[in-house]
Amino acid sequence: MTFASIIGHDRQKEILRRALRNRRLAHAYLFEGPEGIGKRLMALALARALVCHSGEGCGDCPSCRKIDHNTHPDLHQLNADGATIKIDRVRQIQKDLSLRPLESEYKICLIDGAEWLNPAAANALLKTLEEPQGKTLMILLTAHPETLLDTIRSRCQRLPFRRLPQQRLAEILESRLELDEVQARVLAALSEGSFKKALGGNRTLYLERRRELIKSLVALSAGSIFPLLDLAQELANDKEQLPEILEIYQAFFRDLLLLLHGRSENDLINLDIREILYRQVRRESVGGLLKKLEALSEGRWHLTRNVNRQLAMEVMLMRISSAA
Ligand SMILES: [Zn+2]
Repeated sequence: MTFASIIGHDRQKEILRRALRNRRLAHAYLFEGPEGIGKRLMALALARALVCHSGEGCGDCPSCRKIDHNTHPDLHQLNADGATIKIDRVRQIQKDLSLRPLESEYKICLIDGAEWLNPAAANALLKTLEEPQGKTLMILLTAHPETLLDTIRSRCQRLPFRRLPQQRLAEILESRLELDEVQARVLAALSEGSFKKALGGNRTLYLERRRELIKSLVALSAGSIFPLLDLAQELANDKEQLPEILEIYQAFFRDLLLLLHGRSENDLINLDIREILYRQVRRESVGGLLKKLEALSEGRWHLTRNVNRQLAMEVMLMRISSAA
């Protein structure tokens, strides 16, 4: 990943490149912003530029390739992966950083998910941030900077990252994935500016399965229980993608609300299933749609509470299908 191949984030790129050129890198950076928008790619591009034989992060030299394969001995990574980072992992990193670089001028430490540092680990890390030694570079990534210790935040140079504007993301998806304009817009809207979502496993969900999921939902009626139980089971079995599926339903109800309020098609997300939208909107009322949205958000809330998923989905779908 080179700076040039990162899409968007031009200001952030320029700041880092200038610091590299002038050899005025901070000892520690805090890249903050939503998940999946390229913070990690930017951090790796910076790491590459630092270790690269040509000094650019060419992507072809052995050092660049080692960064890409996560085998470079001077790059130390700590990934939270949704679990608390404990103090012993921070201590290990500190030990690694205290040694001389093996192949490059710098030792680099990348902590992805800094909000997962537990208090003891955060305090231990603080020491490294307060007393930077030699040529070390710390890069912390977080989607929740407000949860970090003030003292950690203040010792890093903060670099905020924002989601790409939807229109820009749609244009990029259109050219990169060879999608048509409508599909690209659907994907951009549902991914909320996140490349990770748009390019990852969700692409099939958003573009292909969405249509089926919405069809199954609108086919439900309060009177027939079996299709409802089937759909509840399908959703409950899909633990991984369930949050995104509920977002798909939310976007669908939102489209219907916008149509009921006479908004233009330009504001809609599900443009590729206009026929379903227009058929369905004739059966809906504002009050009913609000109840459905409420049932959805309660369903989402229950899922975060470790409840019986199947039961939560059944109740949610019953409320949706009986709301009028
Ligand atoms: Zn290189």
